[in-house]
Amino acid sequence: MTDCPTTAPEPDFSKGAAWIEGRYVPIAEARIPVTDWGFTRADATYDVVHVTDGRFFRLEDHLDRFERSLQGFRLSPPVDRTEIRAILHGCVALSNLRDSYVAMVCTRGRPQVAGSRRPADCLNTFIAYALPWIDVITPEVQARGAHLWLASMPRISPASLDPTFKNYLWRDFMSALHEAHDHGYDTAILLDQEGYATEGAGFNVFIVKGREVITPDRGALEGITRRSALELCAELGLEGRVAAMRLEDLMAADEVFTTTTAGGIMPCARVGNATIGTNIMANDRPGPVSLALKALYWQKHREGWHGSTVDYTARPQ
Ligand code: PLP
Repeated sequence: MTDCPTTAPEPDFSKGAAWIEGRYVPIAEARIPVTDWGFTRADATYDVVHVTDGRFFRLEDHLDRFERSLQGFRLSPPVDRTEIRAILHGCVALSNLRDSYVAMVCTRGRPQVAGSRRPADCLNTFIAYALPWIDVITPEVQARGAHLWLASMPRISPASLDPTFKNYLWRDFMSALHEAHDHGYDTAILLDQEGYATEGAGFNVFIVKGREVITPDRGALEGITRRSALELCAELGLEGRVAAMRLEDLMAADEVFTTTTAGGIMPCARVGNATIGTNIMANDRPGPVSLALKALYWQKHREGWHGSTVDYTARPQ
């Protein structure tokens, strides 16, 4: 009997590619150890950039924010900015995705001294991955206008967690999502302890009142899509502003929309909750200003605005 030579099957990157522990693997094989403090303490930071039609959108802005978040949490990945950029290109190229959700993550890692409780003893890790495009609010819900639940739990205080450092400490968001879904709403936004609007589970929020387009000045991530929406306001002759937003402002808004990398500019039709009632905006449909901003956002993407082409030829081995 002769031995058949065995060859390892080609890895299948069609569902996404990850870079972890220094090598590329199919997304299903990317795992972190249970003892990584990124898991046991949510001691990690991350950022997400999207690719549409083969182009990263505002990649350098996402890298800048990732660096700020790393500094904010005193994390130091074993790769520099140039290497991170190359790895992100590598993940998208390997998975051969034209439209992609691309994440970069740094976890605290594991203590190198057994049993140590000192963050400084941990070896920080870097992970990246590319997935097929994700919308945090489905296209169908975006089309009819999302229904936003106003959560009863306040957003965690910025005194305890700086929301401008992107993080996985989502306990308040998760409670808000459960509440929203229990009441038949699509997703939720949170107020702070003083009653000012902050943000939602993975997105910023805006109100439209006349020609004014306002997003909260506190308690929120400085979203890259938020920045883009403010830039687009100027192009449409709207007055885009970052300002205090109270519950009354939300309830009196002509329109509300949300913004995120994983979805873009996403119009809403209702905002409220069982206690205060619901602002059902004109016709219970996405409003004209939200729709104009959304259309311009995607038109500018098609024109290459803030875009950098993915290097699909640099497929790492
Ligand atoms: N706020 C939170 C809490 C988020 O997690 C996100 C994105 O994931 C955003 C806002 C929107 O930020 P960006 O537009 O940069 O994706």
